[in-house]
Amino acid sequence: MSACYTAQTMTTDQPRPAHHLPDGHFQNTDNSCEPIRDTLEPDENVPTHRTHLRRLPIIRGNENLWADTSISTATWIGHATYYLKLKNVGILADPIFSLRSSPVQFAGPKRGTPPGRDLDSLPRVDLVLITHDHYDHLDKNSIIKIHKLWKDCVFAVPLKVADILKDWGIPEKQIIERDWWETANVDDIKLTFVPCHHLSRRGILSSSKNSTLWGSWMIEKDSKKIWFAGDLAMGDGTYYKTIAEKFAPVDLSLLPIGSYKPSRYTRVHVSPRQAAQLHQIMQSKQSLAMHWGTFSMVYDRMDDPPKDLAKARKELNIPDSTFYVPMPGEIFKLY
Ligand SMILES: [Zn+2]
Repeated sequence: MSACYTAQTMTTDQPRPAHHLPDGHFQNTDNSCEPIRDTLEPDENVPTHRTHLRRLPIIRGNENLWADTSISTATWIGHATYYLKLKNVGILADPIFSLRSSPVQFAGPKRGTPPGRDLDSLPRVDLVLITHDHYDHLDKNSIIKIHKLWKDCVFAVPLKVADILKDWGIPEKQIIERDWWETANVDDIKLTFVPCHHLSRRGILSSSKNSTLWGSWMIEKDSKKIWFAGDLAMGDGTYYKTIAEKFAPVDLSLLPIGSYKPSRYTRVHVSPRQAAQLHQIMQSKQSLAMHWGTFSMVYDRMDDPPKDLAKARKELNIPDSTFYVPMPGEIFKLY
């Protein structure tokens, strides 16, 4: 679907999309997103402190697949960072290689496992996808280092995030900024920025809340479709049903499974069971997990996300291998 308007040229006589507020902020437009209580562990049983993170095993091997330009791979770096090597193209999604998810490196959530691969060990990065401005998805040090290592790398970001990257020294011509449902072509890759139920905030001022857009990315290349979900809640599910109507079945979904306990956090994140439902809504041929076990953000225990996902797979009849939980650094062959 092509864009119904171009953000940069929007004038007052064009209708304002429902997710754009008159003051320039953004909002979710689906119906209420009540915390899930029926399938989740009762809140009274959930710990009242952040989990102590154990180091996950870092997997090596399969590097030859990176050199083979006929093969596509996905590698979980940690948190929501995925490295996609789609034949001859390298894509990094929501890259965070820093020790902390924070505006400063002396405080804030500290990672429990180092990045599964060092940034400078990746064969190439042509494109970076950013889903929203939260510190655990948009990391200044990582963006600057990527630009330094791969001078021509293009950065695709949500509406109003381009200015942040420009401030960090990324040339304007290398930044693609998109609204929901707008598309972009980068060589033979077609990107569509699609909606999701979430929010944005960067900085201490409450005015920064929802001042930039959030969303997820659909990547199309060589007749294959990859949905990088980013960070999201189920909401009332309408966003995902609409995305599925346009794109399902997708070949790969990269889905968050962590930060969902106690239940109030399902207002902004999906539970593993909801991630499994998204896998089904998108008729995903393969899904890979992310957004767990790296930064301790809320109160799920370290092993809750993969355990709850295993339970959900069983209940929803999803083969274990079809919604797989890779370890950091593991190079997963797609096709
Ligand atoms: Zn977020």
